Amino acid sequence: MTAEIIDGKAFAAGLRARVGDVAAAFEAAAGRKAGLAVVLVGEDPASAVYVRSKGKATLAANMASFEHKLPADTDQATLIALVDRLNADGKVDGILVQLPLPKHLDEQAVLLRISPDKDVDGFHPVNAGRLATGMPGFVPCTPLGCLMLLKDQLGDLSGKEAVVIGRSNIVGKPMAALLTAASCTVTLAHSRTRDLPGHVSRADIVVAAVGRAGFVKGEWLKPGATVIDVGINRVDGALTGDVEFDSAASVAGAITPVPGGVGPMTIACLLRNTLVAAHRNAGIALDEAAL
Ligand code: NAP
Repeated sequence: MTAEIIDGKAFAAGLRARVGDVAAAFEAAAGRKAGLAVVLVGEDPASAVYVRSKGKATLAANMASFEHKLPADTDQATLIALVDRLNADGKVDGILVQLPLPKHLDEQAVLLRISPDKDVDGFHPVNAGRLATGMPGFVPCTPLGCLMLLKDQLGDLSGKEAVVIGRSNIVGKPMAALLTAASCTVTLAHSRTRDLPGHVSRADIVVAAVGRAGFVKGEWLKPGATVIDVGINRVDGALTGDVEFDSAASVAGAITPVPGGVGPMTIACLLRNTLVAAHRNAGIALDEAAL
């Protein structure tokens, strides 16, 4: 193996600690804690675990956590009414509705109802538009975490060739927008891309967000490339990424492991976004780029 392992767990711990310090200063200045409301509908076990760990991390970062657990048969009007109350609640800076919602609910309508200024997940089309046009808004947490790891590893990304594999609204598309804003030359690949290995072979940066275990092979990579593996796949009970780790690590310059790479960055960036929202909502200045 030649690649440096990018320790997302350690970077995320540092980010959470910085957020905790700034959150304590926010409380002193604003006279209240920054607050994150998380809404869980139904009893999906994986979602319940995510919501619990988000709540714990929020409290550990000196912020207030408001958990709203609704039964699986909650109707659309009740959920929308809760979102409206949270939009109007001055103690709530960020609102997160845990996905997926039960099938009978209209997910898109619920996400559209969240105030874009409390949309710390960055899923609202207004925030997607702000990202696309370079306006301040909220960026989805997973690609934001990937960008932080890349900047920490490589410094200035300007002029680098980047290939993003996957074009979902929550990972691939915002990742491509962030890398474009960082002055990379970006190729956004998907299931219809022709000669994916050919594209990957030219890339200084590869971000894999496909959802297929071991999909990206080491032999596709340009020697020395930086590889960010977003994939979380369960194979025989173990978590594994979208990149074939052993072959990739023998060619890449640096690579994120799964687990312990991108995963821990997602919650850390959620806390960061909530704290940014709190400062904006309270009209208190914050050097957002330094956080
Ligand atoms: P998604 O919505 O299923 O999107 C997958 C993308 O991969 C699609 O754009 C699809 O192309 C593309 N794709 C599928 N097969 C392909 C192929 N053979 N060649 C090239 N592209 C192909 O998935 P997602 O929500 O973005 O998530 C991707 C992965 O990241 C999953 O493993 C997920 O669990 C993980 N994830 C991790 C975190 C984290 O915190 N670390 C957060 C979110 C997601 P088409 O558009 O053409 O269908």
